[in-house]
Amino acid sequence: MEFETVIGLEVHVQLNTKSKMFCSCATSFGDAPNTHTCPVCLALPGALPVPNREAFVKAAKLGNAIKATVHKRSVFDRKNYFYPDLPKGYQISQFTHPIVENGYLMIDYDDGTQKRVGITRAHLEEDAGKNIHSGAYSLVDLNRAGTPLLEIVSEPDMRSADEATRFLKKLHAIARYLGISDANMQEGSFRCDANVSIRPKGDPKLYPRVEIKNLNSFKFIQKAIDYEVARQIEAWEDGDYANKVWQETRLYDSAKNETRSMRGKEESADYRYFPDPDLLPVSLDEATLEEAKKLPELPDEKRKRYVEAFGLSAYDAGVITGDLVLVGFFEALMEHNLAPKNAVSWLTTELLGRLNKSQKTIENSPVSPQTLAKLIERIEDSTISAKAGKEALDYLFENGGEVDTAIERLGLKQVSDDSAIESALDSVLSANAANVERYKNGETKLFGFFVGQIMKESGGKANPAKVNEALRKRIG
Ligand code: ADP
Ligand code: MG
Ligand code: ZN
Repeated sequence: MEFETVIGLEVHVQLNTKSKMFCSCATSFGDAPNTHTCPVCLALPGALPVPNREAFVKAAKLGNAIKATVHKRSVFDRKNYFYPDLPKGYQISQFTHPIVENGYLMIDYDDGTQKRVGITRAHLEEDAGKNIHSGAYSLVDLNRAGTPLLEIVSEPDMRSADEATRFLKKLHAIARYLGISDANMQEGSFRCDANVSIRPKGDPKLYPRVEIKNLNSFKFIQKAIDYEVARQIEAWEDGDYANKVWQETRLYDSAKNETRSMRGKEESADYRYFPDPDLLPVSLDEATLEEAKKLPELPDEKRKRYVEAFGLSAYDAGVITGDLVLVGFFEALMEHNLAPKNAVSWLTTELLGRLNKSQKTIENSPVSPQTLAKLIERIEDSTISAKAGKEALDYLFENGGEVDTAIERLGLKQVSDDSAIESALDSVLSANAANVERYKNGETKLFGFFVGQIMKESGGKANPAKVNEALRKRIG
């Protein structure tokens, strides 16, 4: 039997507001434990929450970017559960009246085609603290408690781990473009739960979903889903589906590359949601709604512009616009009047290739856009050959420094000087008199042989166009 994979994602995006969702404590990462706390986020009796306007602006911006309905009115509810890093015994969230509903984004395939994935809702809530388990003790750090989160819930529209990854990459890029989150996956400010089920191909019904919690890298998301799909298919084929696949929460263990049962999944009724009596329903004013409509150029528009204005392929434009840092790098290159396609290939194939190999990212590239631009200029103006350019890039990548100094030091300059080329030509022709004779008698393919010999004589530095021209003049 053939199966189809069904995936819906829930993504928690930590909003980069200065203060927390319901108090004026600073949001921070990595500071000494419990230094950013107050009666509200410590849940001391009688302390009252006050919503953060900035969090609403950022949530509404995301809503507008995914072409959703941004509600003027939204309501905070209490979601009740116990966990040591949740001192109130409930999380403030939005349940029946979220701020954002009914949007979508387009995921990108490499060939430039797209697929629409629905986004059911996005709601504001607060993060919990962190439990730290060390030896016989468990400690609680409440610095993160109360940090604003936007939870974005997709429709079950994805049909493979690859599509899920593409959805996340697109959402990640949008969050970065909007500047609403650092979206740093290692630090947990962009994390994802994947809901995964299978069904016989062609069956429109949805089968029980397994939720895999807190996936924090694109690679793990792919692997966790692949593992889970294989587990469910195997259970089905073994006639064991009903026993092995039910609505539950599983954890992905990256060391073992497997998912493990964590707990049976609660139904929403288990949380006893009810409107938080400490918080009035929020009604956004016009100024806030208007502010949230001011959006920067988003990835889809930028990609289209790069294809149209610079003649890039959809794939190249997608690689660059998928990452705001690459966008900055590329746009800095474009200030230098370079041929766009050439610049892209030096950026993606050559520089990104070297970065990947040495496990660096574009953020900490040892070669700046100015340096790369200068190098490309030196190739475009024929000072060095493209091959020498790669050698120069290797050197600059390792040692830093100026492009012209590197070219000088490595002796890469092409010889365009006529007299130097003429003298190389002279010595090659006189050393190959017999071949010159054969050439003149019609063996025209020897032309390439002479060019090769002259290049060799010049130590590979002669400008090939000049060599061709001089040779043509001499032997016709
Ligand atoms: P909960 O908070 O209980 O996890 P949500 O409504 O927030 O529930 O999220 C449900 C997620 O699961 C959504 O992303 C939805 O698309 C997805 N989903 C629902 N049914 C299925 C299914 N059968 N297979 C895969 N994903 C599903
Ligand atoms: Mg969930
Ligand atoms: Zn506080």
